Amino acid sequence: VPELPETETIARDLDAALPGATIDRVAVPRPSILREVDAGALAARVRGARIARVWRRAKLVVVDLDRGDRLVVQPRFTGALLLEDAPGDGSGLPERERGFVRATFHLADGRALHYRDIRALGTVALMDPARFEAYVGALGPEPLDPGFTGAALHAALRGSRQPVKKVLMDQKRLVGVGNIYANEALFRARVAPARPAASLSADESARVRDALVDVLSESIARRGTSFRDYVDARGARGTFVERLAVYGRAGAPCTRCDAPLATTHEVDGRQTVFCAECQR
Ligand SMILES: [Zn+2]
Repeated sequence: VPELPETETIARDLDAALPGATIDRVAVPRPSILREVDAGALAARVRGARIARVWRRAKLVVVDLDRGDRLVVQPRFTGALLLEDAPGDGSGLPERERGFVRATFHLADGRALHYRDIRALGTVALMDPARFEAYVGALGPEPLDPGFTGAALHAALRGSRQPVKKVLMDQKRLVGVGNIYANEALFRARVAPARPAASLSADESARVRDALVDVLSESIARRGTSFRDYVDARGARGTFVERLAVYGRAGAPCTRCDAPLATTHEVDGRQTVFCAECQR
């Protein structure tokens, strides 16, 4: 499940490889992944466009085109962007990926940018500048921005009686954090995931903020967490999975106190893993 570190890794890799390249044509074998355009309009609007920049906002990979339009890719559960060298006909992709290519942007230099998505629940949208501004304007702040302080998080949590874990994953309040990093940050901060958000003190909020920044930054440095299907733009897996303290470790001993880690689906419907001894 690509969250902030995984999406950031994809965007950085592509930004090192794509700016200056021109899109020659588009193939969309699975048009149901498209948003805001149909396949014909997408092809017409990107043909001949030059890629200016690739960057991340929230859990989105954003491709700026020189004409002002933006491709906005939301990988959701099993989406990835794979860059293939010339001739870009799919033969350079690992065989296990080929059947899951949902859209391909063929570049004039012979390379190809493939959107692969195993479950095909992610989306590819094309937005003009006004539409893009409105779309991202509805999202919450970025956790790695300097303005995201402990006090800012405390203010965001204060208004909600919902479990703190659920609020951390609410993209309108804070972007980029999903189930993996919410579990990890709350463990590091020693805060129980089911606590009502409004019950956190300023000090606890600051601990959660610091834990989020640390865990997200460390994961970016390790190119993300490949738990199941996430791969980077060259098909390689991230290695942060080795550093996970709670996610995927239900029943295993707590790395801090050795108690067996507890698990529940009652906090937010997702699997929550935590230490009942050292998270309060
Ligand atoms: Zn513990």
